[in-house]
Amino acid sequence: MRILILLAIGLLLYIIFRNLYRQIKNERQIEQASKMVRCELCGLHLSEEEAIQKNHHYFCTIEHLESYLQQK
Ligand SMILES: [Zn+2]
Repeated sequence: MRILILLAIGLLLYIIFRNLYRQIKNERQIEQASKMVRCELCGLHLSEEEAIQKNHHYFCTIEHLESYLQQK
């Protein structure tokens, strides 16, 4: 009976660690896939492809780009 409990615990730990490993692996793949940039105006993080770039600055929306340019 004790062996069964140990086996069950071992299996549970195996499943938990496997899921954790997969999560870490997936997060790393996402990071590598797209560089993260920050909106100059509101500080929102978004991927480089989604962001609007202007003079080496990044913005989340056209509106934020325009209001940033108006501030200057
Ligand atoms: Zn923004």
